[in-house]
Amino acid sequence: MTLPSKSKIFEYWIDWYRRKGNDSGEPCCWACGKYWEDKYDIKKPGATREEIIKNWNRVPLQRCHIIAKQFGGSDEPSNLFLMCSDCHDKAPNTKSVEAFLIWTDKQNWFINFQEEVMKEINTYELQDRITEINELMSNKKIKQEIFENIGIHMNQRGKGAQITISTFIAAIFDYLRKQDEKLI
Ligand SMILES: [Zn+2]
Repeated sequence: MTLPSKSKIFEYWIDWYRRKGNDSGEPCCWACGKYWEDKYDIKKPGATREEIIKNWNRVPLQRCHIIAKQFGGSDEPSNLFLMCSDCHDKAPNTKSVEAFLIWTDKQNWFINFQEEVMKEINTYELQDRITEINELMSNKKIKQEIFENIGIHMNQRGKGAQITISTFIAAIFDYLRKQDEKLI
């Protein structure tokens, strides 16, 4: 049996999604809240309920089982949850709906992002240089220079392949090292 469409799943969960304070026309991961700027937002003013629901089929979220199939979970919309690939990978395989929902409720893409940045800052032992890094990042010209060096064009953000946080921090590390050695 094929899974119901993302729209069908959303239709089932729409009231829950709104109760969480989300806008049905602005799709995000149901766990961490990750979104794609306004790329998948329904931009049509006065869109109908049908149009808003249908729009969810476009969103790059995955259909995840709440109770895993291995534990007898069904393929009904009530047992499916839309999450980004990161959350899907990390989510618990559980027999408990409550345990699943507690986990999803605690996810936060911004905190995850910050934690990953800190992890890579530690990798490159840049803990003492965070103020300096913040200063570099607030200088538009330097920021552009650092990232164009690794082939990221700031004006193409969100279009190309995903660039990992380690790639960003490695580029900053490389820049700081050259600066220390007075190569730049
Ligand atoms: Zn997520």
